[in-house]
Formats: sequence, C-alpha cells, structure tokens
Amino acid sequence: MTMIGFIGLGRMGRPMASNMCRKGFRLVVHDVNPAPVRELELLQARAAGTVGEVAGASDIIVTMLPNSAIVEQVVTGPEGVLANAKRGGLVMDMSTVDPLVTDRLAAAARGKGLAFVDAPVGRLASHADRGESLFMVGAADEDLQRVRPLLEAMGNTIHHCGGVGTGIRTKLVNNYLAVVSCQLNAEALALSQRFGLSLEKTLEVLYGTTAFNGQLKIAWPSKVLAGDTEPGFTIDLAHKDLSLIIEAANAAKVPMPIAATAREAFSTARSRGFGPKDFSAIVDALCDLAGIEKPRLQSKPSI
Ligand code: NAD
Repeated sequence: MTMIGFIGLGRMGRPMASNMCRKGFRLVVHDVNPAPVRELELLQARAAGTVGEVAGASDIIVTMLPNSAIVEQVVTGPEGVLANAKRGGLVMDMSTVDPLVTDRLAAAARGKGLAFVDAPVGRLASHADRGESLFMVGAADEDLQRVRPLLEAMGNTIHHCGGVGTGIRTKLVNNYLAVVSCQLNAEALALSQRFGLSLEKTLEVLYGTTAFNGQLKIAWPSKVLAGDTEPGFTIDLAHKDLSLIIEAANAAKVPMPIAATAREAFSTARSRGFGPKDFSAIVDALCDLAGIEKPRLQSKPSI
C-alpha cells in the first residue's frame, strides 16, 4: 500500500492529513510542533522525528507549510525531502508559495528522479475540516492520477490547471480577489458603523445587490461578525500572499495598485498586533485605528 508522508500539520495540514487517515491511507507525519503530531498518532499515523525520516519512508510526500523559505528549506535543504526520498517518488507541495520557488523545486525534484505536483488549496479552513477543500493542480496527467485519491480524501473539487506551476499561479489569482475583498469589506463596514447604520440591515442590502462577495456573505457572518477572530487563515498569511501576488505581478510587468494598497493595510494591521488573527479581523484593525465600534451581528440578517 502507498505510504504517504505529510509535513506541516498546522491549521490546514492537520485536518487534511486527518481526513486521509480516517479514509484508510497509511501516513507518516512530521511537524516542528509536537502537539498536532500526537493528534495524528491517535488516528494511526506514524510519527517521524525528522523531514528525512518522512521522505525515506514515503512514496508520495506532501508539504503544507507556511511560506516559500520554509518549503524550499524542507524540500531542498541538506537534510530535506529530496536528499532522502526514494527514486520514483512524488513530491506534492500544497502550500501557497512564490511560483518561481515552485519552478525551482520541480526542476530539483526532476533532477533526483522524482515527480513534482503543485496543488494549493482553495476555500476556508472550515472546508478543510469537513474534507470539502478545492485544489488547483499543476501536474503532468500521469502524476495527477497518482495524487487524485489523496485529493479526493481531502476535498471535493479538483481543478487540473495545466502543467507544473499552473496550480500555484491560479492560487495567486484566486487569493488576490479573496484577500482584497476583505479590505474592501472592512472599509465598507467601517463606513456603515460610522454612519450609525444597522449592521444587519446593511448586510441584507449588500447581499441583495451585486455588491456582495463570498467573504462578506459566506465567511464573515460566522467569523469576525460573530465575534470569532480565531484563524482560519491569519492576517500574517494574507499579508504574505499579497506580497507574493505583488512580487509575481511586478516580475510579469502587470501593475496591481490595489494589491499594493491592500498589502499595506494588512501591514498596518500586523504592526498593531492583529497578525495571528483571522483575516476577516482586518475590519477590527481598521475600526480600531479609526476609533469606530467593531461590527458584530446581534441577529442573523434575513436573506
Ligand atoms: P499554519 O501556520 O497553521 O501551519 C503551518 C505548520 O507548519 C505549523 O504547524 C508549523 O509548526 C509547521 N512548520 C513550520 N516550519 C516547519 C518545518 N521546518 N518543518 C515541519 N513543520 C513546520 O498555516 P496554515 O494555515 O496551515 O497554512 C499552510 C499553508 O497553506 C500556507 O502556505 C497558507 O498560505 C496556505 N493556505 C492556508 C489556508 C487557511 O485557510 N489557513 C487556506 C489555503 C491555503
């Protein structure tokens, strides 16, 4: 039976790996934080003390790590995945990283006789909990066939975007709209609060016109507007993604002035201590700054 290595058991990796365990896959797992490793052991996963131990024991190695620098170090570092993986194996990075890092990792994997797939994850952490994530896959056809059963265990929507590197590029396009719409929502709701309007009534109006967006209608009512600012997806990670988007767009000579402005709004939120909060709390950061009461629902808006 195929052995799956899973490195990075954070807010996303833990439920993704757990869903594979529950569906009968054999996993060997690692995280620098021992707490989620212990949780996975309770689901019959094998704990590994090092990245090299995971790589040496696995046919497919999945990484779900915070940023480009960590992914690069874990995959290509001297004690990393490529230095220890078996020839013929496959590395699937599901983190959100710089696309040029993805290209470099894929080339390095090929050089070691390993296949590479980029399969970043769409939708919210709560979808990952329920095994309802969406995946944007960059892969050769035959490599997608190898990882498809894993993706089906972790989510319910698989998009094959093209060859290696197209998954991560699609993810940046997606996250540009998802993250920027949070900043737009923050400004709109801060204005509504300052005007002294009813939050419930404002949302009922916005949900009934083309002004609505998925963050405002699907994500926010059960997160910041319900007083829950636990991540989810942190303001720190949203800031990282906007930085990746600006960098990649600039390299391709695509000006994105709104992304740059939104990134600095997230930067301000981080400087005021909001970095570890859910990215919907960007509205709290703005309201704090402007001395406006934070928007909180007293009742469910009727839609
Ligand atoms: P997280 O910070 O909760 O988890 C990252 C995990 O990696 C942590 O458990 C950390 O201990 C571990 N880690 C860090 N360095 C390590 C190392 N050297 N070796 C082993 N483990 C290490 O982040 P997350 O929210 O799970 O996000 C992971 C990735 O997925 C990020 O790239 C993020 O942008 C992306 N993403 C997040 C969401 C979301 O809603 N949270 C959704 C889609 C994509």
